[in-house]
Amino acid sequence: MLKQRDNYQKIVNELIEKSFPELGNWEIKVTEKDLGNFKGKIKFYPWEKCIFVDTKVRKTHPRLGIIGLLVHELCHFSIFKKNNWGWFKVNFDYLCYSLSKDYRKRVEGEVEKMILEKGYKKENKILHNIKKW
Ligand SMILES: [Zn+2]
Repeated sequence: MLKQRDNYQKIVNELIEKSFPELGNWEIKVTEKDLGNFKGKIKFYPWEKCIFVDTKVRKTHPRLGIIGLLVHELCHFSIFKKNNWGWFKVNFDYLCYSLSKDYRKRVEGEVEKMILEKGYKKENKILHNIKKW
């Protein structure tokens, strides 16, 4: 379990180094958690930034699909960083995201675009091809 968490962390650290130089000084912590219906979630606390990966992901996703998921979540952070949003604005954004389907669609569209720009088309496709539980 712990070893797996370390693996996720290692992959994220490598992805940041390789493809998300803009996140440079942001430390993003990865934790496995039961997320119910979601594969992944992010949380932006004033004291730390986290990616949560559902515990079922490692049993259902190959490595490339996991990379696809982590890239997806990192793109969300990259958008925050690009817009220079602090904690308050990010959480306001989260509220809009939770309440508005259109807003959600727009944000996810921006993420999908960034995934392709960063060269993770294959990983993204594998991620989307794996059904949720
Ligand atoms: Zn998303």
